[in-house]
Amino acid sequence: MKHSHYLLVVLSFFLFGFLPDKSDQFKVDPETAARVKELLSKMTLEEKVGQMTQVTLEVVSKMEGTKDQMHELDLDKLREAITKYHVGSILNVFNVAHSLDYWHSIITEIHNISSSETRLGIPVIYGIDAIHGANYTKNATLFPQAINIASTWNKDFAKEIGAITSAETKASGIPWNFYPVMDIGRQPLWPRLWETFGEDVHLASEMGAAYIRGAQGENIGDHNKLATCLKHFVGYSFPLNGLDRTPAWISERMLREYFLPTFEAGIRAGSPTIMVNSGEVDGIPTHSDHYLLTEVLRGELKFEGFVVSDWEDIIRLYERDRVADSPKEAVRLSVMAGVDMSMVPMDFSFYHVLLELVNEGSVPVKRIDEAVSRILAVKFKLGLFDNTFINDKLKSEFATPKSNQTNLLAATESIILTKNANNLLPLSKKKKIFVTGPTANMLSVMNGGWTITWQGDEELLYPQEELTVLEAIAKKIGKENVSYSQGTDFDNMKDLNKSLEEARKADVVILCLGEPAYCESPGNISDLTLDEAQINYAQKIASVGKPVILIMLQGRPRLINKIVPEMNSIIIAFLPGMKGGEAIADIIFGDANPSGKLPVTYPRFPNGNTTYDYKPIEEFDVNYYYPQWPFGFGLSYTKFEYSNLVLDNKTISSTGSVEISVDLKNTGSIAGKETVQLYICDLYGSVSRPNKQLKGFEKISLLPGESKTVKFMIEADHLSFIGRDNKRIVEPGEFNVMIDYLEDTFVMTK
Ligand code: BGC
Repeated sequence: MKHSHYLLVVLSFFLFGFLPDKSDQFKVDPETAARVKELLSKMTLEEKVGQMTQVTLEVVSKMEGTKDQMHELDLDKLREAITKYHVGSILNVFNVAHSLDYWHSIITEIHNISSSETRLGIPVIYGIDAIHGANYTKNATLFPQAINIASTWNKDFAKEIGAITSAETKASGIPWNFYPVMDIGRQPLWPRLWETFGEDVHLASEMGAAYIRGAQGENIGDHNKLATCLKHFVGYSFPLNGLDRTPAWISERMLREYFLPTFEAGIRAGSPTIMVNSGEVDGIPTHSDHYLLTEVLRGELKFEGFVVSDWEDIIRLYERDRVADSPKEAVRLSVMAGVDMSMVPMDFSFYHVLLELVNEGSVPVKRIDEAVSRILAVKFKLGLFDNTFINDKLKSEFATPKSNQTNLLAATESIILTKNANNLLPLSKKKKIFVTGPTANMLSVMNGGWTITWQGDEELLYPQEELTVLEAIAKKIGKENVSYSQGTDFDNMKDLNKSLEEARKADVVILCLGEPAYCESPGNISDLTLDEAQINYAQKIASVGKPVILIMLQGRPRLINKIVPEMNSIIIAFLPGMKGGEAIADIIFGDANPSGKLPVTYPRFPNGNTTYDYKPIEEFDVNYYYPQWPFGFGLSYTKFEYSNLVLDNKTISSTGSVEISVDLKNTGSIAGKETVQLYICDLYGSVSRPNKQLKGFEKISLLPGESKTVKFMIEADHLSFIGRDNKRIVEPGEFNVMIDYLEDTFVMTK
């Protein structure tokens, strides 16, 4: 085998609180500003307030139609929304994914009315949640969910998936995607964990920024690009009790240290819109938080795009949170806090109330002009005034074989092997296999929420030509070698005796457990432990004595400590998307070598919710960080050996840098991919410093026997943190550098 020795230089820039030289931040150029100003000067107050109003498709639809689309546009209502209420935006799908042509007809009707039946011809911006591909357009490429993109640790996939999703969403005529989720996933109970890029600030920032760069390209107005929307600003992902839309207890320092940086990275990557956190932080519902939405977002982060509310959340300031004592006060509070557009979305109440507020002088026209200017600027930059959104040619970029291939590769790289006793995997294709469990023969369990429908759980609507885990295994080794019995539902054991009999007859059992599809509040749980029926079923199956391979398809790390010892191999697949079945089969039979790594800590116990970057105080209790598997963990079928950790500089000044290099060799007998992870520990600090923090990563491919050198550049801003006065600081001192089991230190002087 040829031995080669490449040099790979990895320069990673940390953005937190620092303004890097290279930023693609959305800025309103003078030409756009002039166009906005001119248009604004012609607008009536009603037209302006309408621009700030967003309604859902249902509001302009008839509740009838065909079996496939279940509704029909109500042209009278649509005309009324656009010509009477001057709505600036429409969103969402009507229940179930529409065909490409049907989307075209909807968007064309909207455009025809806004362009030819209104005084100024201001286009309506259509927005959608295309979170893992154009999931509300039939037959789109449906990728792994964000938790899986993060599991690949491969930024190229994040970028490419962003680009393909844009092309397919834009092919549907839609120029605005409510994605990516830049919340970090540090609360595993939260039912939206899988919409995030995991628990770590650096990993999530890098993945989110790469996605945005792919989705938006150089110019959001290009034919196959669109505007992304960072959500949900900020702190939404950390509810104390783990339930969706419940209070987050986050101090300002922790908010700045852990929750703001990912949004800052998204802003620097150029996202021109932001959606607000539906919940509350430190007792303040974010839709009413002037400090966060204006002082921090505009004053500090210099965000120039527009801010959209989340669904019904302005009204909830009155109805749910009671920080406003009337619907009118709710609108005043949120608009004055900094919300530019209201996702009302079921009626025109926001329009009426805001008009009243301005007319009586409770909201200044200046604030309205500011909000509308921001919305118009994005519309101009998207090219909506130039009618670029319906482009039939884009149909050729929809669901192409190449996108399909990217989908399979991404799914494969996202699959994490966490246990492989006696190298049971990969399996020979000559074995007799018994496949069982509630996630073995369903497509919805691999895709999760926001797939074809909001909850993603309508299995019968899924494209039947796609392969479940069972079907992919049967395709690979022949139907005659595979037997199947579901054995258990998610929470209710079924045909146990049949399963035990099949297990006895087989050489190996592939047991597929996990969660049904869900999203948002319907996915709330009060116990992270996997349902008892599934745990019991796994134990019964294991008692037969045949080797068992456990596959977990799930949106969050459901606890399985009771069955881990009895399972011979374990694959954590999370939500790998429509190609998940094929990807899992490729890995099981060795047609692909696993390279996914956990983007979250996999807890062992219900109270073991400690992230990898825990604090020194947590080291004194052995149970604190005793996870099932740590953040960054994942096995391969080959072996990698790290050596030669070298720091080019052991003492740096606060303006200097240190180059860290390490050699990596594939010492096994097959090709594989490995993610080199650089961690740093600040040994002493005025605020207690985490045990370690990820500061760089790079995924590389190595042939058997091949070595590569990977380099990272660390500068002062990588070492910064939020000090006692809530300001970002860098403190001189000693720093530990860790890559795999290798360690070294350097010192930063004053
Ligand atoms: C979700 C958002 C989503 C919006 C529009 C809300 O319920 O929280 O993430 O973008 O609905 O569909």
